[in-house]
Amino acid sequence: MRRIIVFVIALVAGAALLVPGARAAEKIRVVTTIPDLKSLAEAVGGDVVDVDSLTRGTQNFHEAEVRPSMMLKLRRADILIENGVDLDAWVDVAVVGANNGKIIRGAPGRIDVSRGVPLLEVPSVRVDRSMGDVHPLGNPHFSLDPGLAPVITQTILDGFARLAPEHRAAFETNRQTFLTRLDGEMARWTQTLAPFKGAKVVVFHPDFIYFLTRFGLAQAAMLEDKPGIPPSPQHVVRVIRQIKEEKIKVILVEPWNDVKLARRVADEAGAKAIVIASAVGAVKGADNYIAAVDFNVRTLAEALR
Ligand SMILES: [Zn+2]
Repeated sequence: MRRIIVFVIALVAGAALLVPGARAAEKIRVVTTIPDLKSLAEAVGGDVVDVDSLTRGTQNFHEAEVRPSMMLKLRRADILIENGVDLDAWVDVAVVGANNGKIIRGAPGRIDVSRGVPLLEVPSVRVDRSMGDVHPLGNPHFSLDPGLAPVITQTILDGFARLAPEHRAAFETNRQTFLTRLDGEMARWTQTLAPFKGAKVVVFHPDFIYFLTRFGLAQAAMLEDKPGIPPSPQHVVRVIRQIKEEKIKVILVEPWNDVKLARRVADEAGAKAIVIASAVGAVKGADNYIAAVDFNVRTLAEALR
């Protein structure tokens, strides 16, 4: 009997401990496919939302695997924010597995941030995916171009306000605070990269075209044969020759990519391979949106000096 009483007390105490959790559950549960969007969603949503990302910044988003843990997160989600343009098309499989009508394509809880983004590198002819090109609809890596943060956060705000119109004013204030801060940083970033206007860089995977274009830099070549297709020996030889001829100083490589190969190519061509934050959380010190952009600006300026 005594043991039962102790057990009941333990249960009650346990339930009491759960109360803060219960309050947290009243927040709007937002799930994003990639961490860059988590950071922006938190900037807009503030303490009204609870945001979780399905992937980590150290991953190659093109190749994310759908896991049961993803479905669990999606099952409880009120809102799903996706990048779109085929970067995270795998999320559809996870949404079906989660069986959550609130976030299926076309539902009010589904936000695609590529809407309103002027896409780059949209193929003029239909790209045959069987050839392995992972950018068949255009380049999907726009999230870390700080010049696009206003349009992306607007799309997120509209989606949030659709579901929670009573919080619209708060979302607008949060977004404005974030954009004001970003504006200040943007002035500094532009100044830091101004001396390198027109500089050419080589990228391993083409995930920096929006960022480079924003700051007046140029992508001269990529190491991959095609987006998502590993470099062939002949292509590597061509790129090495180009780096030497055009006196290119830098190869940008993602932490998830073949950093060793990038370094070998750089050594042979007399350039420098630098690991950049391909996403929020991709490298140490890039743990939110502004920190990730800042890391890339500083690292690139340092390497081009
Ligand atoms: Zn890509």
